[in-house]
Amino acid sequence: MLTGCVRAELAAAREGFKHGLPAPAETSLLAAIRQRADDSARAKLRAVFNLSGTVLHTNLGRAQLAEEAIAAMVDAARSPCALEYDLAGGGRGDRDDLVSGLLAELVADGSPEVAATIVNNNAAAVLLTLNALAQGKEAVVSRGELVEIGGAFRIPDVMRRAQVRLHEIGTTNRTHASDYQEAISAKTALLMKIHTSNYTVTGFTAAVDEKTVGEIAHAAGLPFVIDLGSGTLCNFAAYGLPPEPTPQQALAAGADIVTFSGDKLLGGPQAGLIVGRRDLIAKIKKNPLKRALRVGKTTLAALEATLRLYRDPDRLAERLPTLRLLTRPLTDIAALGQRLLPAAQTAFGKLATVAVEPCLSQIGSGALPVERLPSTALVIRPHAKKPGKTLLTIEAALRGLPTPIIGHLRHDACYLDLRCLEAKDEARFVSQLVQLKF
Ligand SMILES: *Cc1c(COP(=O)(O)O)cnc(C)c1O
Repeated sequence: MLTGCVRAELAAAREGFKHGLPAPAETSLLAAIRQRADDSARAKLRAVFNLSGTVLHTNLGRAQLAEEAIAAMVDAARSPCALEYDLAGGGRGDRDDLVSGLLAELVADGSPEVAATIVNNNAAAVLLTLNALAQGKEAVVSRGELVEIGGAFRIPDVMRRAQVRLHEIGTTNRTHASDYQEAISAKTALLMKIHTSNYTVTGFTAAVDEKTVGEIAHAAGLPFVIDLGSGTLCNFAAYGLPPEPTPQQALAAGADIVTFSGDKLLGGPQAGLIVGRRDLIAKIKKNPLKRALRVGKTTLAALEATLRLYRDPDRLAERLPTLRLLTRPLTDIAALGQRLLPAAQTAFGKLATVAVEPCLSQIGSGALPVERLPSTALVIRPHAKKPGKTLLTIEAALRGLPTPIIGHLRHDACYLDLRCLEAKDEARFVSQLVQLKF
């Protein structure tokens, strides 16, 4: 590794020399080699401070796990564990049984008719569900719900890969019950609704509610599938948050299968949860893709521990970081801003003024795209008349810290939204600020 660093720096120096730059002094060459070696020795997947203003930031790993989930993951990683081993009977077990009963308890009052299976993420959950229940046939979806999630998840593409024919109905803004009814033929395998998690359609619109689509599906003897996207398990309104549909509601409204992510509002590890009718879950589990998409022991350990926290709703907002951050009192965030202001002024004073100002946080990860949560930011405004270059310098310096600080640029300023900086990490944050050199 070290030889590679030396060669790379020498090559860079020669290249510069060819283009008329002076040969670097030995000390600066050595410093550059050391820097390159340090960078290379450091883990690539590093902890950062997420002050981007988006709580569930997909590029920053979405949900922070609860301590209970972290402890469970560590145990599962360290020791042999009963992943697929029936401790009661002594025979082979099923890894889905680790959470299936718990999920049925949380979303369907423990109904024995409800089961669950877990895969790598919600995209995998949708792919597997479609392939298992509708391969070679049609799935009926409203045109207004053909979502694209950031990256490469587009419902029409996933359908094609699942070898399911997409039967689009309605128009972009309006779909009616009769559209669903008229679409059903001998080729239909299921009706599907997809939560429009990252956009809203407003104005002259019409959509058919879950209950009605479920009734139409069941009258035709077809399953009704809902891709919920985020799918929180708790009543957001009770926490003063904007309402978000739950798997409980989806199942109660007649969905036979519901899919949702583990690392969005649920606040657990990356996973795709498929919950619903036991016979359909059995069919989904028999599909060979299930083996290709299944999750490992550390994921299941974290998921089980996270789900257990939901049994105690009174303590959930304190133990589950996602919910804790979303429900954090504004006064708490604002007070943190005031405490951090002097250190930030010292760090940026040469280049910019720093102020504590109100801002708005997003929930992120395709949850509640329009809703914003009032928050507080450290706002760094360069002295320069044309601040663009200084802002890029500031942003790069923050990213270059041992524990990088991720903010966002807006209105000719760098915003550090403090919602996701908890008091327990305050000292660590300040220890980063004091390392900034401009
Ligand atoms: C986020 C989302 C997905 C993809 O989920 P991942 O867990 O990121 O794979 C699929 N459908 C909807 C509606 C979503 O919001």
